Amino acid sequence: MTATVAEPTGARARQTYYWRVRNARTRQSPGSAGQAWHIQPGHPGGAYSDLGHELDPPEHHAPTLLSRSRPTGRRGDEQEFRGGCLACEWEGPVHSGNGFGDGDNEAVEDAHDHCFPGWRALPPITTVEDRWAVPRSRSRWAQLTSQYPAGWIDQGAPVVAWRRYRREAHAPPYTGRPRYELRVTRPPIDRGRRPTDQGALF
Ligand SMILES: [Zn+2]
Repeated sequence: MTATVAEPTGARARQTYYWRVRNARTRQSPGSAGQAWHIQPGHPGGAYSDLGHELDPPEHHAPTLLSRSRPTGRRGDEQEFRGGCLACEWEGPVHSGNGFGDGDNEAVEDAHDHCFPGWRALPPITTVEDRWAVPRSRSRWAQLTSQYPAGWIDQGAPVVAWRRYRREAHAPPYTGRPRYELRVTRPPIDRGRRPTDQGALF
């Protein structure tokens, strides 16, 4: 029973504990490490992250994603996710899902609610092409980020983009872009307008 093991809390402490289990530094089986909460590989502070591995916590709240697997017996392992923060011990509620935008998305959003409250009101990128084009255009990037609260961009505030399909997974930070790209639901189209009028809405 994993419940009898006192795991530390907080993304950084959990990640350290996870590696201690994996490296046989605890009484737990190294093979069971995946059942301990740890930072999802590819997310900030995780086993692989383009952002590197800073040993010192950032001076501001910084979102990341924690995961673990739970043996269910009948159907193999179940994955669980929760948001984490690299600067404090905050952890979000647990979400189950397959990890492809299911469970992981909710957890990443919780982490952003903790680090950047109000992020859902940030101006969205509305086309797939602009996900690439806007950050590469000095003027368009300046125009977008001028609508962000002061200091947020330097602290890794997310880019918000309309999703292409249901449960499109949020993208973790990568080299050259030290922030999440969060894929959100496109607001419902006003049925009173014809499709040709949509451009005028924005
Ligand atoms: Zn925090």
